[in-house]
Amino acid sequence: MNFQKSQALFSRAEKHLVGGVNSPVRAFRSVGGNPLIIRRGSGAWIEDADGNRYIDLVGSYGPLILGHSHPTITSALNEALNNGTSFGATTEIEIKLAELVKEAFPGMDKVRFVNSGTEAVMSAIRLARGFTGRNKVIKFAGCYHGHSDFLLAQSGSGLMTFGMPTSAGVPEGTVKDTLIAKFNDIESVEAIFREHGKAVAAVVTEPVAGNMGVVVPENDFLKKVQELSHRYGALLVVDEVMSGFRKNFGGAQAEFGVEADITCLGKIIGGGLPVGAFGARAEIMDKLAPLGGVYQAGTLSGNPLAMTAGYYTLKYLQEHPQGYQHLMQMTERLETGIKKAVADAGAPVTVNRFGSMINPFFTSHHVKDFDSASTSDTAAFARFFWGLIQNGVYIPPSQFEAWFVPMIIQEDELDKIIAAVRIALND
Ligand code: PLP
Repeated sequence: MNFQKSQALFSRAEKHLVGGVNSPVRAFRSVGGNPLIIRRGSGAWIEDADGNRYIDLVGSYGPLILGHSHPTITSALNEALNNGTSFGATTEIEIKLAELVKEAFPGMDKVRFVNSGTEAVMSAIRLARGFTGRNKVIKFAGCYHGHSDFLLAQSGSGLMTFGMPTSAGVPEGTVKDTLIAKFNDIESVEAIFREHGKAVAAVVTEPVAGNMGVVVPENDFLKKVQELSHRYGALLVVDEVMSGFRKNFGGAQAEFGVEADITCLGKIIGGGLPVGAFGARAEIMDKLAPLGGVYQAGTLSGNPLAMTAGYYTLKYLQEHPQGYQHLMQMTERLETGIKKAVADAGAPVTVNRFGSMINPFFTSHHVKDFDSASTSDTAAFARFFWGLIQNGVYIPPSQFEAWFVPMIIQEDELDKIIAAVRIALND
């Protein structure tokens, strides 16, 4: 494979963009080598600057469940574009998207749209603090909730990849109210509640941890977290930025028998444009400005183009339940195929999956939390990554990022991925 044009463009990028990228994981630091520069995408495929084609299992890190340039989304966007790109005023499409989000999350009475997942969780926590009048927040090691200061403590993929326990530039005072528990370890949550009890405003969690690979809650973990939170008068904030709409038309929380007090969304609900959202029952949401005293705002929040891409994506998902059936079949088949390839190669790899999120960890340990995820052999993963690239499959350049299977993937494409996995494991 020839990467000449990608290399040349990346050298140029490095002169003007920090590390040649606008978000760190894209820099390929944990797999070595230079990133590919992507030229275009269509369906399940992307093409780099040299014209090499890959089946894309990154999907822009989650949003593109309908693949690239889906005709429904591009035609809706073209039409919206003709009506203007931003007004700083409410438009009908915001109302329509809010109605649709509420259908998917029946516990929500109201929604606030923002521009990213980071903003969604940051604002949801401010709201939880304003609502409860408390300051402390419990989060789980290895869960990532965006890059707001107080949540940058033990926070998953980007930081695991870089081996940074937290970020420089975050004052100690900012994280002093962030308490870290262990995912899938209810004792660790209970211990914090016992000590800090009535000072805890919220527990924030991904329902399925997707930023230390894919780690599924076990033994009713989420139900127990919800029960503990409520016993101590704290809110349960469920960050579905990644997990939302990945397995069905709705959230992962329902799969695990919990209902968040505040749900955070992003990625898929923007259909590939920058969007985040949070929603809750009216009693909580009405504490937000302009009705309440918790301030939150945004020049481009509810942007008509982003709302349009989100609305038509969700509408498509709602109207195509058979699409989810297909997606589950395809991802199951991928899981079986990888497991068989792993067994045949005798490789110490553990495959975790939730819906259409899947990740092979290069470890023989059962991966159920940050510590077990950290036992992965990242050098072996790096070799595997480049093996896949050489065989036309694009996955995230980090052991600790989920692969996202798009709904439009076809059986022959799946077979290509499994064949590439076999080769890459034996490289
Ligand atoms: N929450 C979760 C669970 C995420 O996976 C991410 C991003 O990957 C975020 C929040 C932050 O979202 P964004 O990158 O849109 O700010």
